[in-house]
Amino acid sequence: MSRLGVFVCHCGENIGRTVDCAAVAAAAARFPGVVHSVDYKYMCSDPGQSMIKKAIADLKLTGVVVAACSPRMHERTFRSAAAQAGLNPYLLEMANVREHCSWVHADRAAATAKAVELVRLMVEKTRRDRALRPVRVPVEPTAMVVGGGIAGIQAALDIAAGGKKVVLVESGPSIGGHMARLSETFPTLDCSQCILTPRMVEAASHPNIRLMTYAEVAAVEGFVGNFEVTVRRKARFVDPDKCTGCGDCWNRCPQKRIPSEFDAGLGARRAIYVPFPQAVPNKPVIDAERCTMLKQGKCGLCAKVCPRGAVDFKDRDRLEKVKVGAVVLATGFELWDHASYGEYGGGRLADVIDGFAFERLASASGPTGGAIKRPSDGAEPKTVVFIQCCGSRDEKKGLPYCSKICCMYTAKHAMLYRHKVHDGEATVFYMDIRATGKGYEEFVRRAIDNDGARYVRGRVSRVYRRQDGRLVVKGADTLAGRPVTVLADMVVLADAVRPRRGSERLAQLFGVGYDQHGFYSEAHPKLRPVETAAAGVFLAGACQAPKDIPDAVAQASAAAAKTLGLFSQPQLEREPVIARVNRNLCSHCRSCVHTCPYGAVKDFEVKDRAGSVLKVVAEVNEGLCQGCGTCVAVCRSHCIDLDGFTDEQIHAQIAALEAA
Ligand code: SF4
Ligand code: SF4
Ligand code: SF4
Ligand code: SF4
Repeated sequence: MSRLGVFVCHCGENIGRTVDCAAVAAAAARFPGVVHSVDYKYMCSDPGQSMIKKAIADLKLTGVVVAACSPRMHERTFRSAAAQAGLNPYLLEMANVREHCSWVHADRAAATAKAVELVRLMVEKTRRDRALRPVRVPVEPTAMVVGGGIAGIQAALDIAAGGKKVVLVESGPSIGGHMARLSETFPTLDCSQCILTPRMVEAASHPNIRLMTYAEVAAVEGFVGNFEVTVRRKARFVDPDKCTGCGDCWNRCPQKRIPSEFDAGLGARRAIYVPFPQAVPNKPVIDAERCTMLKQGKCGLCAKVCPRGAVDFKDRDRLEKVKVGAVVLATGFELWDHASYGEYGGGRLADVIDGFAFERLASASGPTGGAIKRPSDGAEPKTVVFIQCCGSRDEKKGLPYCSKICCMYTAKHAMLYRHKVHDGEATVFYMDIRATGKGYEEFVRRAIDNDGARYVRGRVSRVYRRQDGRLVVKGADTLAGRPVTVLADMVVLADAVRPRRGSERLAQLFGVGYDQHGFYSEAHPKLRPVETAAAGVFLAGACQAPKDIPDAVAQASAAAAKTLGLFSQPQLEREPVIARVNRNLCSHCRSCVHTCPYGAVKDFEVKDRAGSVLKVVAEVNEGLCQGCGTCVAVCRSHCIDLDGFTDEQIHAQIAALEAA
């Protein structure tokens, strides 16, 4: 005999404004098996939980239904209260009368009637609930960080400092990411490489960190605490164990004019190269598309001059499986391609460059040694126009969101330009100034007041090249309400920030959600900003949304803290929503084996006492099953059921709905 308690929460006014909670409680009191039914302002509060605990103890309840918010919000809270009162926590269910009812309806009478039905369904389910025990699975206390930019490096260092092993996977030949390409950083104008490279070296030499550069995730199996990640280690054609980074090879490579990705195409690299002098590891790779030996079988000079015999033209991609318990995704961002802005030259005007190209021009380690020179002829530009929001906040041709960092780095660029070209003129076109970080507003004011940057509020409608080579920038000053034309020697576009190409594929491999732009989705924007819907997979940096360095670093440390929290226990408790096969009924059609997205169903030989195989059936591995229910749906013999969501429970709910 069930003795159920129903507790209806007002959620302040969130539910109470639209749903008559007292009426719902009164209706629930008449449902079969319900012996107690009340409503209360905040059921999740301490008095609310005490009310539930007291009723369980005093009335000897065998089950509880809490009609409140989404179970994602407070199921754990209420189940823990039930457990404290001595009730198996899986005998407590939640009816979602907030997200599924009060928030989506305006008609109070109809919403109340719907809430009554939602509670009725959950009462029918709870009457058929069985006590369950959480599944315990061991945790592999090694983390994988995907992405070797500042966010990934920070996450790896923090996890390693917590005493746990980390595998840092980076797709490029070196860690460092975009930060290694920056000249200075706002708002302090620190030399970017000076603050980054010690961390790169620390990551490479830390005994708890294993670097896997020139590598990418190819496949993922398993679940929180027990992932098995297959990493593709791309062919480097140089054995890093033999190579000393002496540089003899790249100094002799005849392929000298390959545009350097690191220098935004303004400098050149060889076919065998390290992306930049401070690269970590400082070991070259061969670009197979540009090496004449690998393409046409001619050359081989690097192998001849290498004193260590490190060059290996027979190298091939290799797959390596790595077992990890948690993953931090820190794949970063890239700039939106302004080629689709035909009015700004569509990427065809050599002196219209993006922010990274300007960083490399301004950097002491860049192709010009830090001198600002225009790409077309190497002359010092005396007038530079900076255009903010190129592709950002443009629903028609670009991306609808604010890229967050452009206002600040444009102010920095204008400042750096004026520091290097004292008689130069810097004009900035902006839509709004969004300088919301600590010291940011003051930084922009410095660019204007101290360094003489001229800020024009308005949009640029067109940039084109005159016959004498100068650029004509036509726009509107929306404050003065008049058109503006500026003659410029160089134009710098603050291109929008977008997720790195290929990030969707990685999200799919890890079961992480992403938005329409490809940014990874956090589990909850306010309360779980570094977790994802995939347990054990955390986010750090600009893969989640445009972010500046301080925010990326802070989020990376948060992701590391989450990872260390996960690793603080030798075993993980998992929800016991597990599929079970009735061996007597299984016809071994193997539909479930083929359909299970987690590879949790395997063949099982039923043997007699003598060890002879009587028959083969399907069996579910508890550790792997995620309770998705797919196997239940495909089993034509109806011999699989899901603990906590049995067919009997679902059918009872449907019958209750039909009878209503
Ligand atoms: Fe490495 Fe050999 Fe090149 Fe020196 S010459 S950097 S040892 S591959
Ligand atoms: Fe350059 Fe390839 Fe020749 Fe080596 S073999 S020196 S990488 S072109
Ligand atoms: Fe057995 Fe059902 Fe799986 Fe077929 S689908 S193998 S009958 S459990
Ligand atoms: Fe696989 Fe079934 Fe478990 Fe889903 S419920 S993970 S299909 S065994």
